[in-house]
Amino acid sequence: MSDGENRTTSADAPETPGSRQRAGGWIEVIAGSMFSGKSEELIRRLRRAQIARQKVQIFKPLVDDRFSEDHIVSHSEMRIASRTVRGSGELLTLVEDDTNVVGIDEGQFFDAGLPAACNTLADRGKRVIVAGLDQDYLGRPFEPMPQLLAIAEYITKTLAICVVCGDPANHTQRLVASSDRVLVGASGLYEARCRRCFRPEGPD
Ligand SMILES: [Zn+2]
Repeated sequence: MSDGENRTTSADAPETPGSRQRAGGWIEVIAGSMFSGKSEELIRRLRRAQIARQKVQIFKPLVDDRFSEDHIVSHSEMRIASRTVRGSGELLTLVEDDTNVVGIDEGQFFDAGLPAACNTLADRGKRVIVAGLDQDYLGRPFEPMPQLLAIAEYITKTLAICVVCGDPANHTQRLVASSDRVLVGASGLYEARCRRCFRPEGPD
C-alpha cells in the first residue's frame, strides 16, 4: 500500500530538541463516479487508523443531509461518525492539534477554499483523506476536486460498473431532467455508466 498506514506516529517520534517535530502530513484523494465505492474506501482507511489508536476527525458538508446527520454512510450501509460543517473555514477551526487523521467526504460540495485548507492541515503534519465526485452529471470536472487532485500526494480513482453494458464506469448518469448541478440523493436519480453509454444530454 502506498497510503502510509505504517508511518511512525508523532507519539513515537523522538523528542530530541532540534529534531523533526512530527511525522510529515500529506493529502490522499479518493475520486470517482457515484456507486464506485468512494465512501466505503474512505471509511475503510479511517477505521484502520482508529484501530491503530490514531486520533481521527471526520467531516462532511452541510448540503449532504441524506441518510444520517452525523455519520458518513456508504451505499452498502457502512457508517462512521462525522461532523457536519458549513465550509472549509469552519472545518479548519474544528481540527484539533492532536488529531492525526482528517477524513472529508463529499469534497465536491465544499467551497473553493478546501484545497488550501487541506494544504494547511497537511503542513501541520496531518494525514488528510478526501473523497468526492470528480465529475458532475455533464461529465465536467467538479470543483474543487480537480484542484485537490493536483495537490494530493496519493490519488485513488474508483470506478463503478456500467449498468447498461457492464464495462468499468467513470460517469454518473442523471436519470431525471434538471439543470441543477447538485441534486442530493442517489437511488433513482443517478446510475453509473461507461464512456460509451454515458448520455450527458439526458438518459435514453
Ligand atoms: Zn456501458
